Amino acid sequence: MAIASQSVRMEEFKRRVGGLVGAGECILGDAAALSSYGSDGLIRFRQTPEVVVIANNAEEVRAVVALCSELGIPFVGRGSGTGLSGGAVPPAGGVVIATSAMKEIVEIDPVDRIAVVEPGVANLAVSERAAPLGLYYAPDPSSQSVCSIGGNVAENSGGAHCLKYGFTTNHVLAMEVALPDGTLEVLGGESPFEPGLDLRSAFLGSEGTLGIVTKVWLRMLSRPEAVRTLVADFESVESAGAAVSAIIAAGIVPAAIEMMDALAIEACEKAVGAGYSLDTAAALIVEVDGSQEEVDALYEEVKSSCALCGCTKIREAADQAERSRIWLGRKAAFAAAGRLAPAYIVQDGVVPRTALASVLGRIAELATEAGLRVANVFHAGDGNLHPLVLYNPDSAEESESAEKLATEIVELCVEIGGSITGEHGVGLEKACSMAAMFDDGDLDVMQRLRTAFDGDGISNPGKVLPSPRLCGDVPGRYRAHPLELSGKAVRF
Ligand SMILES: Cc1cc2nc3c(=O)[nH]c(=O)nc-3n(C[C@H](O)[C@H](O)[C@H](O)COP(=O)(O)OP(=O)(O)OC[C@H]3O[C@@H](n4cnc5c(N)ncnc54)[C@H](O)[C@@H]3O)c2cc1C
Repeated sequence: MAIASQSVRMEEFKRRVGGLVGAGECILGDAAALSSYGSDGLIRFRQTPEVVVIANNAEEVRAVVALCSELGIPFVGRGSGTGLSGGAVPPAGGVVIATSAMKEIVEIDPVDRIAVVEPGVANLAVSERAAPLGLYYAPDPSSQSVCSIGGNVAENSGGAHCLKYGFTTNHVLAMEVALPDGTLEVLGGESPFEPGLDLRSAFLGSEGTLGIVTKVWLRMLSRPEAVRTLVADFESVESAGAAVSAIIAAGIVPAAIEMMDALAIEACEKAVGAGYSLDTAAALIVEVDGSQEEVDALYEEVKSSCALCGCTKIREAADQAERSRIWLGRKAAFAAAGRLAPAYIVQDGVVPRTALASVLGRIAELATEAGLRVANVFHAGDGNLHPLVLYNPDSAEESESAEKLATEIVELCVEIGGSITGEHGVGLEKACSMAAMFDDGDLDVMQRLRTAFDGDGISNPGKVLPSPRLCGDVPGRYRAHPLELSGKAVRF
C-alpha cells in the first residue's frame, strides 16, 4: 500500500514537474542520462534517481522543491558531483535538483569586496573573474576548477590555503536557500552583525540536508602583495611532521603547509612532473604570503624550522610559473593516485597537528597488517589527513580489506582526539561513523535542528545522521540492517 502510493505520487510529480521548469531541463525517462546522476566522486555508492531537474534559476528550484514537499518526494541538491562522501547520491525513489547550470556571477563589488554568485559557479571562476579587481576568493579545494560554490557551502569545503584564511564558513556572508517547504529565504546578511539566531552557520556544512542553495554572497580578499613558496624534503614522515609543529610553534601561520609522502610524490610526479624529488621520504610545500617585508622574514623562519627538523633539501619557486607547477602537482594528487593502483579510497580525517608523525606511523602499521599500500597527501597545517588506500577492485577480498582499513584509519583519528572528517563531509559514507564521535544526546540535538528545517525529512535523507539509529549500525560503507533486510524497518 505504502509503496503503491509512493509510486502514484511520483507519477503525479512527473506529470507536473515539466510545467515548473522553463529554461531549465527535466530528465524523466532517459535511463542512461538518469544513471549518470546516480553517484558523486565516491562511486562505491550509487542510486539512479527517478527524475533529474537541471534548474536554471532560483524560482525553478523553489517551485520543484515545493512540489516535492506537496507530494512527499525526497530530493537531493547537486552541484558538480565532485563530492567524496556520497553526499549527492539520490535518495531511493527521489529527485535530483541540479544547480550546476546556475553559473552567473551576478556582481562583484570591489568597494565592499563582496561577490554575489549563483550556486553552480565553479570555485576558481570567482577568483578568475575578480583578478582584474585585485581580489580573490580564498577557500581553494583541490577540485576548485570544477566544484561549485553551492557544493562548497553544503560541505563547508576547505583547501590548502584554509590554514591561514579559514574554511568556506569564514567566507560566506549569506545564502539564499530554497527551504524544504518550498519557500525562499536569505540566511545571514552583508553585515557582520545580523540580529537573531545565526541560521547561516547552521546551514553551512549541512550537506544538502536543510535545503538547496540558490544564491551566495561571498567575502572577497585583496591579493597579497608578495608570496613565497618552497618545497622541503625530509628523510622521514616523522621529521616532516615535526617540522610542521616547529613552524606553528614558532608563531608562524603560513598560508599553506601541505605534506606528501614518497608514494604520493611518485604519483604526482608521474602525472604532472612538478619537479618533486623522487628520492625523498616526505616533502612539505610551505607558502607564506603578506607584505614583501613580512614574507621575507617569515620565509627565513620557515627555512630555519625545516632545517632544525632535519630537512635535506629546499627548493624555492623562482617565479609564478614554478609556483603554479608546484601547486599543480599537489592539487592533482587524488587523480594521480590512479597511476599507483586501479582503485583507491580517499579517506578524510583530522588529528591534532602534534600527533601527525605518530598517526602516520600507525597508519603505515595498519596498512602492512592489511597487506595494502597507503599514499598520504594532506593539509598538514590543519592536521587534515587524506590517506589514499590503494587496492585492486577485481579482488573482493582486497576491496573488503581496503574498506576495513579506511574505517580503521578514521577510527584512529577519533581515538586520538581528532575527527571523522575534515572537509569531505559525512555524506552517506560516514553516517554510521557519527556515533563514534557523538553521543546520543549530540545526535538528538542535530536531528532536532534538522527537523526544524525539514519536518518531513525529504531534503537529502539518509545522509550525515545515522538512520535508522539501530544497534546494527556499523561504520564504513552502508550495509542494510538485518531489520531492513527482513522488511521490518525501512530507511527514509
Ligand atoms: C580531485 C578532488 C579533490 C578534492 N579536493 C578537495 C579539497 O581540497 N577540499 C575539499 O573540501 N573538498 C575537496 N574535494 C571534494 C569536493 O570537491 C567538495 O566537497 C566540493 O565542495 C563539492 O562540490 P560539488 O559542487 O561537486 O558538490 P556535489 O558533489 O554535487 O555535492 C556535494 C554535497 O553538496 C550538496 N549540494 C550541492 N549543491 C548544492 C546546493 N546548491 N544546495 C544545497 N546542497 C548542495 C549535495 O547534496 C551533496 O551533499 C575534492 C574532490 C575531488 C574529486
